[in-house]
Amino acid sequence: MAGFGGDITERQKAEVALGESEAKFRSLIQNSSDIIGIFEPDGTIRYESPSIESILGYKPEELIGKNAFEFIHADDILKTSSSFNYLIQNFGATVRVESRFRHKDGSWRFLESTGTNLITDPLVKGIVINSRDITERKIAEDQLLYDALHDVLTGLPNRVFFMNRLRHMVKHSKRHSDHLFAILFLDLDRFKLINDSLGHTSGDQLLLVIAQRLTECLRPTDIAARFGGDEFIILLEGIQDISDTVRVVERIQEKLALPIALSGQEIFTTVSIGITLSATDYEQPEDLLRNADIAMYRAKVRGKARYEIFDTDMHTQIVERLQLENDLRRAIEHHEFHVYYQPIISLQTGRIAGFEALVRWQHPQQGILLPEEFMSAAQESGLIIPIDEWVLHKACRQTQQWQERFSPGSDHLGEQPLTINVNICSSRFSQQKLLGHINQVLHSTGLDAQSLKLEITEGAIMENGDNATVMLKQLRNLGIKLVIDDFGTGYSSLGRLHHFPINGLKIDQSFISGRGVASGNLDIVETIVTLGKKLGVDVTAEGVETKQQLQKLRELKCEYGQGYFFSKPLESKAAEALIMANPQW
Ligand code: C2E
Ligand code: MG
Ligand code: MG
Repeated sequence: MAGFGGDITERQKAEVALGESEAKFRSLIQNSSDIIGIFEPDGTIRYESPSIESILGYKPEELIGKNAFEFIHADDILKTSSSFNYLIQNFGATVRVESRFRHKDGSWRFLESTGTNLITDPLVKGIVINSRDITERKIAEDQLLYDALHDVLTGLPNRVFFMNRLRHMVKHSKRHSDHLFAILFLDLDRFKLINDSLGHTSGDQLLLVIAQRLTECLRPTDIAARFGGDEFIILLEGIQDISDTVRVVERIQEKLALPIALSGQEIFTTVSIGITLSATDYEQPEDLLRNADIAMYRAKVRGKARYEIFDTDMHTQIVERLQLENDLRRAIEHHEFHVYYQPIISLQTGRIAGFEALVRWQHPQQGILLPEEFMSAAQESGLIIPIDEWVLHKACRQTQQWQERFSPGSDHLGEQPLTINVNICSSRFSQQKLLGHINQVLHSTGLDAQSLKLEITEGAIMENGDNATVMLKQLRNLGIKLVIDDFGTGYSSLGRLHHFPINGLKIDQSFISGRGVASGNLDIVETIVTLGKKLGVDVTAEGVETKQQLQKLRELKCEYGQGYFFSKPLESKAAEALIMANPQW
């Protein structure tokens, strides 16, 4: 009895122990945040742990007997069922799959499920699947992917997105040669100005409006992307010919030209557009983009607010321009520049009063090059600055040496020390460091500030607005003289002229040389000379080529003259010989 009784106690103990361990597992399963489910090989749900309710909204009893595949997103059925089938065929195998399940409220949740085949396990006899909700992670991943392919400010596709698409298009058009597409490269014309004057927030707003308007001009299959700054790229798909493209471009230009309200003001912007069409000989998408960029650049050069269509000549010219810039860089390093000196004559005494320093490039292959052949490349590349600095230094030192050799009143000179006129480009005129540099040059060459005259064009002064007056005053405070070059060709407002602390005007040679003073220009020259007298500044006539012209200028009481009639620009040795010869006109 006792034994029997003892047996019972042992069995009871064992049952209690089993019950405890079952309860432990049940509690683990029921309280797990993962869903644990058991499925028949055909997908029928036999068991779901209670956590399914917090993840998918269903109570376990609502699901028992239903097929799990009813709840899976159509796009995920294939991969999920093939994993499931693999599992069924391989006892003990484990697979992992990510699929979307329909929540009771109709939304989709991403579950990461790990399944194990326990069909032949007598205790389970089914497929056990353990699922975790990874929806938040998926959303974050999608967002990351989206961010990597889109511009943060405008939400438009970015460069990476666009280049992927373009690469695909290039490949596609190789197989389907009738499939044409076009690339538009857009750059806003005055963005920097707006950004600088109205601030970055307004600049951002402007870009948003532009992005919006661009999208409105396009069909759903076209892509507008932002490449950064104020550059936008558009891909037009399935076009018939160039006239299709031009129609879209004109629509864009019209739409972007409408006023935009920013910071309580109406802003007008324009855009320069470069166009290139797909062709089968393009190997790389980058080539297409480069050509559209070249065409855009051409549109800028030709006056902005317009479009240009790429052609191969453009490419050649760009290559030549780049070559020229490289040559210029090398020329600076190898000291290939020279200063030529053209005398400026006092018309009263007929003697040399000073010189204008004019730069020349001794090109190793092409010989002596005049400024007109390299000035615009030098200006655009910014290389003009080191060139101008060098010319200033060279000319000041030369003048100081001449002043030492040929003192005023000696046989070789008039009453005053020789002066030197040096041209400075407009980009340098706006640089604060110009002052320091001039000071340093005067100091190191020992030239008296009174002997230096800086020639600044009307354009440089007008472009720099109020800053110009400040800059001119600071320059004047150094003791140097300031001359407006090419006077009469720019757009000087005569009303503002007397505000500028200048010492002289140089009448542009187009009013003097050739038939200049002989034709109606005489009146203009006379007006400028009178204006000079009123302002109390000296007037120099450029481009004096004949005796008659000189005669007329003397009659008009113009102070100085410069031109081929007196002398062409000369190398320093020849200029020195001219001083020695001490000619009088
Ligand atoms: P600019 O300052 O107006 O210089 C006068 C130009 O007229 C010079 O051309 C000179 O050779 C030319 N010239 C002089 N007399 C006559 C004449 O009787 N008839 C004609 N038809 N032309 C005459 P150049 O040396 O070719 O220089 C052209 C322009 O390049 C200059 O015009 C100036 O704006 C710029 N430049 C020259 N040297 C420099 C420089 O070192 N720095 C900067 N920034 N610009 C320079
Ligand atoms: Mg000049
Ligand atoms: Mg001039």
